[in-house]
Amino acid sequence: LAKELRRLEKLKTVSEIAASISHEVRNPLTVTKGFIQLMRDPDLTEKQKELYINFSLEELDRAERTITDYLTFAKPSLHNIEILDVNKEIDYIIKVVNPFALLNNVHIDVQKDDDLSIVGEGEKLHQCLINIIKNGIESMPEGGKMSIHLKEKNGKAAISIRDTGVGMNEEQIERLGTPFYTTKDKGTGLGTMVVYSIIKAMRGDIKVESEVGKGTCFILSFPLAVEND
Ligand code: ADP
Ligand code: MG
Repeated sequence: LAKELRRLEKLKTVSEIAASISHEVRNPLTVTKGFIQLMRDPDLTEKQKELYINFSLEELDRAERTITDYLTFAKPSLHNIEILDVNKEIDYIIKVVNPFALLNNVHIDVQKDDDLSIVGEGEKLHQCLINIIKNGIESMPEGGKMSIHLKEKNGKAAISIRDTGVGMNEEQIERLGTPFYTTKDKGTGLGTMVVYSIIKAMRGDIKVESEVGKGTCFILSFPLAVEND
């Protein structure tokens, strides 16, 4: 229960940080603007120019990463609610993430159940699954295997996403979903926060099992859509 309360505490802060995220994007843009203004100077050496260009590109990359992890979260409530065929949604996600997986020597194995429908917003479900899968792939720097399974469990659609990556200890698992918590050089620490908030909006549930050095499994479950709902 204490754990559950902590999780709820985290979610409460989510809306408050919307402002700080626009800050996260605005900062690199301001810095980039500065470098571009500096480049107007006709006396710049080639070396200085090169430096300013590199700084600018790095800053723009940072803004881009923040937006990528945060994308659909900008609208905290669900807007286009529809019945989602989870099989189809997973097919779509795999298509989107496969190039990134291949680039990182990760093989994705998918097992699906037939005809599981849930209620929600497709775009948000995509963002949620992409953020989890992306983290899984990033946890396997030497490549590895990712298994995505969909099945019906206790009247819910359960999606498990398992990686054979670096894993997490108890403390790291606890910190998941906390804004700006990241262990990566180029991390935003926004991915899992977005995941938790989307799952909450879709009345779903998330469980994390992980072992350092072995890997991690995220298990998401969503209520099945009721017929004529
Ligand atoms: P980011 O990916 O930008 O670091 P996230 O919010 O997506 O931010 O993830 C926060 C942190 O949670 C990561 O930096 C990583 O330490 C940890 N994490 C998330 N998913 C996994 C995973 N599948 N395996 C190992 N660590 C993970
Ligand atoms: Mg991430």
